Amino acid sequence: MSAPRSGEAMCPYCGVGCRTRVEAEGNRIVRVRGVADAPANRGRICPKGATLGKVVDTPDRLRTPLVRNGRDEAFRPCSWQDAVELAARKLNEIRERFGPDSIAFYGSGQLDTETSYLACKLFKGSLGTNNTDSNSRLCMASAAVAYTAALGSDGPPTCYDDIQHARTIVVSGSNMADAHPVTFDAVRQRKREDPALRLVVIDPRRTKTAECADLHLPLRCGSDLALFHALSKLVLPRMDRAFVEAHTQGSEDYLRFLHAMDLDALIAETGLAKALVERAAEWLDGAFLTFYSMGANQSTEGVRKNLAIINMHLLLGQIGKPGAGPFSLTGQPNAMGGREAGLLAHQLPGYRMLNEPAHRREAEALWNLPDGAISDRPGLTAVEMFQALESGRLKAVWIAATNPAASLPDLNQVKRAFGAAPFVIVQDAYHPTETTVHADLLLPAAQWSEKEWTGTNSERMVSFSERIVDPVGEAEPDYEILCRVARAMGLSGFDFQDRAAIWDEFRRYTAGRPCEMTGMDAERLKRERMLQWPCPAPEHPGTLRRYTDGRFATPSGRAHFHLTPAQGPRDEISAAFPLILTTGRLAAHWHTRTRTGKVPSLNNVASKPTLQLHPDDAAARGIVEGDLVEVFNERGRIDLPAEITHAVPPGTVFGTFHWGDLFAPARNINYLTTSAFDPVSKQPEFKHAAVEVVRKAVQKLAFHAPRRAEMGEPIPTS
Ligand code: SF4
Repeated sequence: MSAPRSGEAMCPYCGVGCRTRVEAEGNRIVRVRGVADAPANRGRICPKGATLGKVVDTPDRLRTPLVRNGRDEAFRPCSWQDAVELAARKLNEIRERFGPDSIAFYGSGQLDTETSYLACKLFKGSLGTNNTDSNSRLCMASAAVAYTAALGSDGPPTCYDDIQHARTIVVSGSNMADAHPVTFDAVRQRKREDPALRLVVIDPRRTKTAECADLHLPLRCGSDLALFHALSKLVLPRMDRAFVEAHTQGSEDYLRFLHAMDLDALIAETGLAKALVERAAEWLDGAFLTFYSMGANQSTEGVRKNLAIINMHLLLGQIGKPGAGPFSLTGQPNAMGGREAGLLAHQLPGYRMLNEPAHRREAEALWNLPDGAISDRPGLTAVEMFQALESGRLKAVWIAATNPAASLPDLNQVKRAFGAAPFVIVQDAYHPTETTVHADLLLPAAQWSEKEWTGTNSERMVSFSERIVDPVGEAEPDYEILCRVARAMGLSGFDFQDRAAIWDEFRRYTAGRPCEMTGMDAERLKRERMLQWPCPAPEHPGTLRRYTDGRFATPSGRAHFHLTPAQGPRDEISAAFPLILTTGRLAAHWHTRTRTGKVPSLNNVASKPTLQLHPDDAAARGIVEGDLVEVFNERGRIDLPAEITHAVPPGTVFGTFHWGDLFAPARNINYLTTSAFDPVSKQPEFKHAAVEVVRKAVQKLAFHAPRRAEMGEPIPTS
């Protein structure tokens, strides 16, 4: 009988950041439950979190480093020492020959804060390039830019407790019921207990979230700014003048901007009945909380959509109070921590900005580097990185904890980039994934329950996770791997005694910054398990809500109104491509299914990708339910079974990005999405691509599922 082991860890899926109690027998996880006193979940857990134990020790775990001499060769196992020396030698050689900007690190919101910090220190501090970015660029970059521009600091002002105090909850561009189910459960419970709570959902689709709404605004795809401007005009008579005068700047220009727009024209642009918009505006009459996520962020005008939401809160003085404020829902478990640690290309740790000379000097001093050691050249962001690989400007990329060959837009471009890349390192828990098959060197990473780590969830809660089981095979924590490669490259500053020493170095780096965590030393965090920043002293309890005194993190202490003129989506519909493709997640799966795709109970809920079409669009093309349809535009062509539903409006089709090439070739919706991005946040526009759909065959699409078959799991038949 194996000895029982147990411990607590943050769920490694979505940004709700549920804390879980994990029980193991020997090295096998047998139970995952929600932790009752965790503010994120209060004992709740969704089916993805509850089945985490099934995805730790799987047949496709990467157990040893693997290497090959050419992409047409098979991988062969190698020792850690050989793998680390190869990575170090190749990165050094390429850097010396082509310059520091010829190498890059592409990480993820699933990396722990310790690893994100080390990647920033290694590349920006020691190697002289700012080429570190992560898939958080695809997720929260627009929210981060808007928070900083309007409030002076990234990170939401709000917390989950605000659900209990709001008079109205607005959910905009977010299918919370599927993508952030535990937080939405808290909203539903509040609504059951207090029927006076009003729930307004802004979404072109009739999602599960919209079905729970008191008021659903099914606006035309891409007309969000018109709606926010219309709502702002309607609430103007109730503007909180005292708050605006005392705590904001830029209101005169913003009011002129609003006055110059015609209300009826704005509402007409949304395609909504005027009475619906007026009702929504009426309900913004007390404490209101606005949840938003990818519908606002994944847009070429994502920053402006975020700013328009914040403008409404400033106008009505509904921020920094219980139940009030803008609340971006983070897609990934530690996208927040990655930003705090400076992983994105434009950042340095502690919410410092690379383009601020004073911030670069501070970072150099903290890392004992000479003045000017940190480059002022902007780093490559996610999409730019893969464009630079294709053009030959970038020669080597080190990818960790993400699957860009399934999750980036315009996947044919991404494949060309991998084809052109001279050297690719992939650090992951699994092989094969759509990305590992493009690697020269594979480094096996330990999973969430196999290491100690720290992460920050959507409400700024910093959570310590315990090591509960031993890593599978020779897998190592990501932060260990980075330290080993850095030392093999001959660099100093990567000789940490343990994980706690990495955390404590990063924590000190946040002193005096808006995301201050100096009060959370490794020992305290281990003891108290979770603390909310800012937390500036060892006796500080952490901060539930920010800006409660009306003082914002801008130099003047005032929040800034910004003008948010609409430009519309980049990919315009045309006679050739008359339908709008919008994309999103399903409740049963997470990202590219490298984990959830291995859980039979989740696959039974959602076994295959479909293309959702409105009955009018289907009828116009002679398509019936289950037909195989071809979806295409100038970037690619994919085949999917048609799902005919009123959940999407006429003229719009919906698909998910969960299923990549390992499931079946050319089914991933990201072959069609555009890499056009917001000019400031550089976040791509996953929510709006022009496509056409034709009926291909009157037959059900037969999928093969190599990974599930390899694992001996039953393949769902419907
Ligand atoms: Fe994990 Fe998100 Fe589900 Fe919570 S809601 S258990 S964080 S996937």
